[in-house]
Amino acid sequence: HLGNATAKAELGRAAWRVLHLMTLRFPDKPTPDDRETLKSYFHLFARLYPCGECAAHFQKLLKEYPPQTSSRKSASLWLCSLHNKVNERLGKPEFDCLTLDATYDCGCGDNSTNTTT
Ligand code: FAD
Repeated sequence: HLGNATAKAELGRAAWRVLHLMTLRFPDKPTPDDRETLKSYFHLFARLYPCGECAAHFQKLLKEYPPQTSSRKSASLWLCSLHNKVNERLGKPEFDCLTLDATYDCGCGDNSTNTTT
């Protein structure tokens, strides 16, 4: 199956951006409901992601590395390491997860994107 690699890559970049920003905006001290919501979100996302091959692989990764939801920091570092697993499989360079805060800005007009502050 050839597919359209450009469209698939575009979809991937958009999806990763949303996912990373979501974890970087997750509460520092999440309620049990916040935690359940994030966990469900990732499982539903992995079921519905439009690239079937990607979705199947991501579901396996989630089984092996279940979402970490105890804090903003644990959630964002968990997702960063999962993205690195996908990078590795696709022959892409490893991303330095210590630069997450500097890399991502949601443009949301307030000051709550940082994992460290
Ligand atoms: P991307 O991997 O899209 O990353 C975008 C940007 O995010 C990078 O430029 C960098 O600034 C930053 N970044 C990179 N690594 C990290 C990290 N670890 N943490 C935080 N930020 C980071 N494609 C396939 O061909 N086969 C697949 O099986 C497949 N599975 C996927 C599964 C999921 C859940 C998703 C969201 C995408 C998947 N993709 C897959 C798409 C693939 O991961 C890339 O998005 C796509 O190839 C474009 O790659 P890119 O080099 O532009 O960077």
